Amino acid sequence: MIPIESPGPDLVTALANARSAVEDHMVRADRAGIIWREETVSELLWVHAHPHISCADFSRKQENRVGADWLWWWVDGSGECFGLLVQAKRLHHSQSQQPHAQLDFGHGDGEHFRRLVGTADRLGVPAAYIVYFGGVEHRYGLSCEADDHTSQCLPCKRRSVSVITALQAGMLLGASQRDAATGTFLYSKPLEDLVNPDLAARPIQDLNLCNVDMELRRLLLTPQVGARLVAKEVFRMVAEMRMGQLSAAVADRVELEDDIIFPDLPLDSGHFSRPYYPYVMRGLRRRLPDTVQHVLNGKPPPEEFHGVAGLVVVYC
Ligand SMILES: [Zn+2]
Repeated sequence: MIPIESPGPDLVTALANARSAVEDHMVRADRAGIIWREETVSELLWVHAHPHISCADFSRKQENRVGADWLWWWVDGSGECFGLLVQAKRLHHSQSQQPHAQLDFGHGDGEHFRRLVGTADRLGVPAAYIVYFGGVEHRYGLSCEADDHTSQCLPCKRRSVSVITALQAGMLLGASQRDAATGTFLYSKPLEDLVNPDLAARPIQDLNLCNVDMELRRLLLTPQVGARLVAKEVFRMVAEMRMGQLSAAVADRVELEDDIIFPDLPLDSGHFSRPYYPYVMRGLRRRLPDTVQHVLNGKPPPEEFHGVAGLVVVYC
């Protein structure tokens, strides 16, 4: 059995502190002229979030099999959990005289994106990016644009570690790297907000609410805790982007496998590459998959983890 602790609201503070620590690293590195790397920042993030998280790092033992993507499972005291396959991505800037922010989701001719999405499909969870925007003073034009914005601006500082789903990132694939940076800053959300019950208390507005069953509607419209809260906040990002698209045209529904809490879902895709309800909600499970339990018990990662660099379990 894995040790399930329930840190409650302290997890928000722990993730905010971890974000603050990695922001400090990114700022100091930039000032010193050191190009900080996603791997280093991710490592620091999880070190500072301990003991709210546990990690299993496959990269040392399984050099030839790993990718750059980490499998996150958010687990709560009831055993319910939400899985997400995550690739870390950092903000870059152009080398022009007036540098602007850039973000490259299409790296390697789109191969990295396709691999992330494909591996997530195999694991039956949504894919996402953790985006490191760096310190406020090194954003090259990205900011909250408030009149009182400064280098100490809290809303902007909180964005230094943000999350965006691959469904949303896929919409930015054809854009310039400059537009991808701007769009991601607009549509992503700070990592710590995924577990903040105060923010999650707001009902979700979605075009397909009338097509979902009572229990899921309750999740989307009322305050949540634990894994359901994380699933709700990930879904909120997608739903908000969906609201900006055309009206819903949906009658079809899809049924997903056992252990998925909401198996009966609308098939509307909007402008996304695939139906967004099942894409996000397939990550919400009644219990951790056996393969994850095995890895947490010290067993070697099974074949289905091919291409995964490691596992992060967040006790939410
Ligand atoms: Zn600001």
